[in-house]
Amino acid sequence: MNSNNAVVVSDAVKAFVQRDFGLFINGGPQPAHSARRLDVFNPATGEPLANVADADAIDVDNAVTNARAAFDARVWSGLRPADRDRVLLHFADLLEANAEDLAQLETLNQGKSINLSRAVEVGATIEYVRYMAGWATKITGETLDVSIPFPPGARYTAYTRKEPVGVVAAIVPWNFPLMIAVWKLVPALAAGCTIVIKPSPETPLTALRLAELALEAGVPPGVFNVVTGGRECGAALAAHPGVSKISFTGSTPTGKLVGTAAVQNMTRFSLELGGKNPAVMLADVDVDQAIQGVLAGGLLNQGQVCAAASRIYVHRSKYRQIADALAEIAGAMTIGPGLDPAAQVNPLVSALHRDRVQQHIARAHDAGLRFLAGGTPVDLPGYYVRPTVIADVPHDAAIVRDEVFGPVLALVPFDDPVEAIRLANDSPYGLAASLWSNDLRAVMNLVQQIDAGTVWVNSHVPLDPSMPFGGYKQSGIGREFGKYAIEGFTETKSVCIAH
Ligand code: NAD
Repeated sequence: MNSNNAVVVSDAVKAFVQRDFGLFINGGPQPAHSARRLDVFNPATGEPLANVADADAIDVDNAVTNARAAFDARVWSGLRPADRDRVLLHFADLLEANAEDLAQLETLNQGKSINLSRAVEVGATIEYVRYMAGWATKITGETLDVSIPFPPGARYTAYTRKEPVGVVAAIVPWNFPLMIAVWKLVPALAAGCTIVIKPSPETPLTALRLAELALEAGVPPGVFNVVTGGRECGAALAAHPGVSKISFTGSTPTGKLVGTAAVQNMTRFSLELGGKNPAVMLADVDVDQAIQGVLAGGLLNQGQVCAAASRIYVHRSKYRQIADALAEIAGAMTIGPGLDPAAQVNPLVSALHRDRVQQHIARAHDAGLRFLAGGTPVDLPGYYVRPTVIADVPHDAAIVRDEVFGPVLALVPFDDPVEAIRLANDSPYGLAASLWSNDLRAVMNLVQQIDAGTVWVNSHVPLDPSMPFGGYKQSGIGREFGKYAIEGFTETKSVCIAH
């Protein structure tokens, strides 16, 4: 399985994973109060890779108290916006200077292809940091022409100020650990907040490295803190009264717990949750473009993408051609570790998640569904799942209703586009969707009918820092990216002046 081209891990990354990790609080490593530790694994081999602290509620309180002290002391929000912008741009430069090490670290920990780590996890993230840094100098309120009638003859001027919301708790999943941490970190910092990040227990390593680079870039101590841990640590953070805003990305069931905890303290919250995203291919679809697009959009990161295409609705006139091609390409993909740039399919994040995905596949087998590719286990020590294509899936089958979060495409033929959109919308989720057609009238009509936070046309999955991202229905509350990200980390204050 190992090609000769496998990337050689740098000495810096080898040394980093062997560290005796503490938490990152108030500008440096601090030993955790909790004596519990978490093993972190290399998904390509199943071997232990590193060991981090499993923080408890006392650790979380320590991190939040430090973040609160830094916020109240205005060590960050008190800087000129242009100075915050400059520090964040320096942070982007440091990410760039350390890009290869960060990419290797993420691939070792998360399992994804080194190509994806370089291009997206790190490369796209650097662009995102530079885009968001610019918002620090562009946060504005409004002036309001008010008509307050008393006392007679009085005149008023009102205006609004956008102020940093306070201490942000960022809870991050394991599928794009570095990128999603930064999606929260940088707009929060641009707005003047301080932050405590809790990465996923499976993938805590890059967040710890990000904190060091941010400090080096000039982010003051206490402004960016990291607590590593699992469910208990996340729950303590979500319930902490010192947190002003929770920015959560993860599964819908956990998101509901986080939202419920937040409301007890009136903590602001945003939830980026699960998806079960349809791709709908009309009769005039460009077949080659759609096949490439859906393979990229469905199998990227082994399908461990919240916006991944997983339900593929194809007009019956093109169904056979597209199903056969998807099956042939998926069935021929090479399987291997993420450090091998030639391997097209890499391991899932954990043994637990691999088993969960295999259970979804087993249920589809038991239901008698027709497998065109994959479906059988991979006989390798890492956490691999074969790309799997299942045809003619009925609307009530679990594989088209449940979020699988793995490399599984479920194909459904249709005759009437309106019926296809009805089926696509008949889901508790509404994160993303794609439409494949060059029939302008049909596309413009159908885009409006799709219940999803993002709709791509003739493409599936590309994001841009300026494009709002978030879910309809049970895929979440709130939007990240663009001005919406900044909005989410500010409070609006009205100021009314009598004169
Ligand atoms: P998860 O919900 O299991 O965990 C997410 C984070 O929450 C982890 O850091 C976890 O430790 C923490 N957590 C667990 N219990 C908690 C609790 N009670 N209170 C607070 N925090 C708690 O999700 P996951 O398995 O890490 O990630 C996969 C899920 O994330 C999928 O459902 C996927 O669709 C979703 N996701 C959504 C987006 C998006 O932008 N909409 C992006 C990526 C992933």
